Amino acid sequence: MLLLTVFILLVIIITVNKKREKACAALGGAYNSGSVVIIDAGHGGMDGGATGVSGLLEKDCTLIISKKLDAAMAFLGIKTIMIRTEDMSLDYSEDNTIRKNKIADLKARLKIADETENPVFFSIHLNIFPESQYRGAQVFYGPNSEKSAELADITQKTLISLLNDGNTRKYKKAPDSVYLMNKLSCPAVTIECGFVSNPEEEALLKNEGYQKKLAIAIAGGFIKYITGK
Ligand SMILES: [Zn+2]
Repeated sequence: MLLLTVFILLVIIITVNKKREKACAALGGAYNSGSVVIIDAGHGGMDGGATGVSGLLEKDCTLIISKKLDAAMAFLGIKTIMIRTEDMSLDYSEDNTIRKNKIADLKARLKIADETENPVFFSIHLNIFPESQYRGAQVFYGPNSEKSAELADITQKTLISLLNDGNTRKYKKAPDSVYLMNKLSCPAVTIECGFVSNPEEEALLKNEGYQKKLAIAIAGGFIKYITGK
């Protein structure tokens, strides 16, 4: 069932990538889970996030993947909220220091989740490391909801099986320093989609087909999470 869904998704997303309403009608709310998926495209505006070895900006790539994830969720009939749909900060003041602006931005993201009923939070990021050999998507979970680890486990497994890239990473609890994961009370995961410090993986992250695969794996994992299948 999951594989079939993933296949259908792949076809639909390729053909109706930006036509959200059409996609939404395709399954007619087949997976109405009662949850609202919040899709958080990491960074944005003055905060570019990581910069890849050949210049890929994390904030740009996370937005592209997030939009594809939104399309995939819409196709499945799952309600979503996009934290941002363009290159912007959620809260920014010229008078603030970079650090203060960063905290204000994260607080604004948290507020959206706090004001949403039954949220499930997906924060989309890219990884970076000083040594270039490290690669592979990895999922981190917030400690405040007991459902988060299960969501992270399923998402990690779905990413590994769909990307089929020999990734052996395991899902982990988010470090204490990750503000959103530690503040959110709902099921919440951060997905580090890959390392921009690895030239091959950075090239994949720039590739539209690969971006779609990432989105489909995350959406497929969510279906598994809500259906238990
Ligand atoms: Zn990031």
